[in-house]
Amino acid sequence: MVKRFSRCREDFVCEHCGAQVIGDGYTNHCPSCLYSKHVDIQPGDRRELCLGPMEPVSVEVSREKYVVVHRCLKCGVVRRNKAVKDDDVEVMIRLSARPRAL
Ligand SMILES: [Zn+2]
Ligand SMILES: [Zn+2]
Repeated sequence: MVKRFSRCREDFVCEHCGAQVIGDGYTNHCPSCLYSKHVDIQPGDRRELCLGPMEPVSVEVSREKYVVVHRCLKCGVVRRNKAVKDDDVEVMIRLSARPRAL
């Protein structure tokens, strides 16, 4: 058994709320609290050395798709990530109702 295609799947435990997250290769944030982690320089490359927790600060709607705006609590970088179907809609609604404070 050669695991050649295992690179995409990353299961992790959310550092913010402790939820067990089953990665599907696209997930880079916790579906329960939407916290992410600063691991990419370019989307998906996992080459960032910061590794700070990224707080969801707002939600934008772009062409009827939700985009979660994350801000790194360590270095302050702001990133936009497409929401995935497992993301907690309640959390997103709460975030989108929040005034933007970027
Ligand atoms: Zn979480
Ligand atoms: Zn960072």
